[in-house]
Amino acid sequence: MTLGDTSDDSRHQLASYAVTANHSLGRRYDEPPPAFRSQFQRDRDRIIHCSAFRRLEYKTQVFVNHEGDMFRTRLTHSLEVSQIARTVARALNLNEDLTEAISLAHDLGHTPFGHAGQKALNECMNNFGGFEHNLQSLRVVDRLEDRYPEFPGLNLLFETREGILKHCSPQRARTLGQIGERFRDGTQPSLEAQLANIADEIAYNHHDIDDGLRANLLNLEQLLEFSLFRELYELELQRQRDTDPKRMVQSVIREMLNHFAIDLIKSTTAKLHNIAPRNLDDIRMHTGPIVDFQASVREQHFALKRLLRHELYFHHQVVKNADRAGLVVTELFGAFFSDPSLLPPERVVPEMQDEQLKARHVADYVAGMTDRFAFAEYHRIYGRDPIRVTSVER
Ligand code: MG
Repeated sequence: MTLGDTSDDSRHQLASYAVTANHSLGRRYDEPPPAFRSQFQRDRDRIIHCSAFRRLEYKTQVFVNHEGDMFRTRLTHSLEVSQIARTVARALNLNEDLTEAISLAHDLGHTPFGHAGQKALNECMNNFGGFEHNLQSLRVVDRLEDRYPEFPGLNLLFETREGILKHCSPQRARTLGQIGERFRDGTQPSLEAQLANIADEIAYNHHDIDDGLRANLLNLEQLLEFSLFRELYELELQRQRDTDPKRMVQSVIREMLNHFAIDLIKSTTAKLHNIAPRNLDDIRMHTGPIVDFQASVREQHFALKRLLRHELYFHHQVVKNADRAGLVVTELFGAFFSDPSLLPPERVVPEMQDEQLKARHVADYVAGMTDRFAFAEYHRIYGRDPIRVTSVER
């Protein structure tokens, strides 16, 4: 690689339908190309160095951060998504740097306390346009990160931003310009974006089983109800290579993850062979997503999601902790909205005369908090201990 080389990946040939910087729709603010790195490597690097990325370390995935140091956080979740997505991207000759950038950024807009926090903040913002974490992730990289004199946000390439905006209502999409177009005209995002989306689901399906077992909220009997897990577990028993029950379960989880990743590579390859796209436009114009499992494995994937929803996400202890955490978000929003002088001085800006802008400003502040900072702010404002959740660590 020479100085000024902006090729997307010097290690191997990308497929003709992979995203390349040469055909990118570009950055919102023009910049000279990077030296020694590809354009998408630069996006990935900007994401890793931004403050919202560091805060993922102290944000809930399923278990509130202080419940135990062994559970996944948004940061380790994002790293696992990136690992899975990069493996598949490389096997499919897609743009690995872009896939990695999207994977690492996909959860930047998450509130403290996971989905409970988002639900609470969305309710607080009911009269002010709502709150949605995908849109917030885009808002973080487009506007809220304040690190460069030349532009707001991180000035990422269109294709990175497109991948970050995973979902969006057609109504909201109308306000977003070009980046929202696909939610109105039904076109598809790049394969790299489709891949990061599925890798997110593969990652949480598997690490939530692991965390659920660790927390004693899931047990082996429940997992054996799931036919794929049972098959792989019985195979492991037959092999008689291990007698340690914990390690055996780890082997099964690992093989299950491998099963989904390999099927994703094989069935996407077969689908690409049938469709024979010539370029990225053919991917965008295809009637539906192309990165997908074969039908029987897709059913297993959904069955695993259902199992986790019933047994873990709706577990009374998880729900109880989530409800309490949601209350912290609601009360923080209410306090800052009714008395903006409670905000740090640099956060009190003239636009807050407008109720709509004030609400969005407060939502940005609350959404950006880590779990423990939200608890600390709660203590500062209400003068009492934040609502403590029960520890579930073994
Ligand atoms: Mg995620």
